Amino acid sequence: MQQAALELLRTTFGHEGFRGEQAEIVDCVAGGNDALVLMPTGGGKSLCYQLPALLRGGCAIVVSPLIALMQDQVEGLRQLGVKAAFLNSTLDAAGVAAVERDFLGGDLDLLYVAPERLLTPRFLSLLDRAHAGPGIALFAIDEAHCVSQWGHDFRPEYRQLTVLHERWPGVPRIALTATADAPTREEIAERLGLQDARRFTSSFDRPNIRYTVVQKDGGGTRALLDFLARHRGQSGIVYAFSRRRVESVAEQLQQAGIDALPYHAGMEAQVRAEHQRRFLQGDGVVVVATIAFGMGIDKPDVRFVAHVDLPKSIEGYYQETGRAGRDGMPAEAWLSYGLGDVVNLRMLINQGEAGDERKRLELRKLDALLGFCESTGCRRQALLGWFGEEHAGACGNCDNCLHPPECWDGTEAARMALSCVYRTGQRFGAGHVIDVLRGTPTDKVAQHGHQSLSTWGIGAELPVRQWSSVFRQLVALGLLEADHERHGALRLTQAAGPVLRGERELTFRKDAARPPRATRQRASVDASLEDLSLEERQRFEALRRWRAETAREQNVPAYVIFHDATLRSIAEAAPDDLDALAQVPGIGTVKLERYGEDVLQQLLDCEAA
Ligand code: ADP
Ligand code: ZN
Repeated sequence: MQQAALELLRTTFGHEGFRGEQAEIVDCVAGGNDALVLMPTGGGKSLCYQLPALLRGGCAIVVSPLIALMQDQVEGLRQLGVKAAFLNSTLDAAGVAAVERDFLGGDLDLLYVAPERLLTPRFLSLLDRAHAGPGIALFAIDEAHCVSQWGHDFRPEYRQLTVLHERWPGVPRIALTATADAPTREEIAERLGLQDARRFTSSFDRPNIRYTVVQKDGGGTRALLDFLARHRGQSGIVYAFSRRRVESVAEQLQQAGIDALPYHAGMEAQVRAEHQRRFLQGDGVVVVATIAFGMGIDKPDVRFVAHVDLPKSIEGYYQETGRAGRDGMPAEAWLSYGLGDVVNLRMLINQGEAGDERKRLELRKLDALLGFCESTGCRRQALLGWFGEEHAGACGNCDNCLHPPECWDGTEAARMALSCVYRTGQRFGAGHVIDVLRGTPTDKVAQHGHQSLSTWGIGAELPVRQWSSVFRQLVALGLLEADHERHGALRLTQAAGPVLRGERELTFRKDAARPPRATRQRASVDASLEDLSLEERQRFEALRRWRAETAREQNVPAYVIFHDATLRSIAEAAPDDLDALAQVPGIGTVKLERYGEDVLQQLLDCEAA
């Protein structure tokens, strides 16, 4: 079995070897056993049922909740020469009939179907006939967390999938999810009747993702533009807090010459679908979105996920950033946040409809996220720790590991800040309190007579930027809170007492200064190609142009033709014949046949140029 699996992996899928626990999972399912697979996004879940589907007789049934995702998977499989199809609402009657004919005739290896269709009497009886005829290889239940009513992806039909096991007990089942938390895992096992299934739990680390957290530069997008300069021409997602923010950030990016498209639930469905399509098919499109943009984004070459506003929880942050770098190539998760975010989110939770217990839970989650943002240790260690996974730290691929942050004794500054909030009557936001601390004469200062306070001008030596950082950290630490009845005015909490009385010392993180112009410009070479030589980069670019054209002709996403990682390997290997090209990882037999000559021609043209 294992030899056959490895052979298929190489010839059909073009991969050199298995990743993580794939080999064991394939072995388990191909051997006719049930499996519950918990693997992070980009871990390689699809292969865990696609390979057994080919190894076992009959057709595999893949239950998947998302139509767009199904279509991409099927398209990808067909490019590899695998007989795959889907049944969903996009097909007309003739299309459905053709797929059903192939299915019953034993001409399919994989059939993707939405849960609501699978549960129809018509489809169930179709399954009966297939079972008696060419056979059913296995049932794969993708996005298995949809069975959980506590998650935001709840799909009631998933609850009824136990019918598969009851009606065809001999057919192995494999359920897969990237959802990390323990209660959801238990719920999946119970609801799907998979208590006896073998469990495969992978590490949730995504080593190719680099995590960075920076301080916001006001409400602006300057820091974001600096970040995007390193990712020119690459696909990415920018998450923003609200629909209004999405619109305004998208517009600013467009003005900066970036191919940016907005996406949020308030847009017309048609426009939204069009933007999603352009993102999926295009090369180098940046989508600016609310969290409405997410599940079903199966694009492997998303090179960055940027948050211009604070997400709501670590789980959300992890799931959103997980959409970067599924192909295993270097990718970035970048987050900018400021005091305003903390104030906004706290306010939103407090004003929300939820009950007290729920509110407390949400506030705790926000605090955990703030702890992550302000932490001076390894980000990866902090993230994984939240999911109960130990990591030794010092990952070497997060901002804190690459540039350990400096700390400073902020006790005195904190006392000044807290007492100034108190003296001004706990009625103002940070901006005005900072003006008072720095002795900046404004109309508001004059209007309230604040130049006569004892805290007037006592903090003149610290720049505004550093004071903002102090206030942000004070709010993050829970020493100050925003009064939501007074438009976010800051007031002291109980916890401020010990600091004001000199009983508690505070250490603050020194926010990184903005990088000087020169390094920013140097950094503007596409970051993930940094280590390629000039010739290699030229070959890569030529191949990318060819890929874009080919994808357009076939009306499929570019990555369905070849992944970035594959193009990169070709550019490095610079093969001069088909045999050499066949050795490059990511190139299976069918793709070699289909595109081999074209690829070699591109390389030749490059040589000649
Ligand atoms: P998931 O569904 O877990 O997010 P996918 O199944 O989409 O992940 O796989 C993520 C990426 O990893 C895909 O681009 C896939 O081609 C690639 N991949 C999967 N398994 C392997 C492997 N054994 N070797 C190399 N690449 C792999
Ligand atoms: Zn680290």
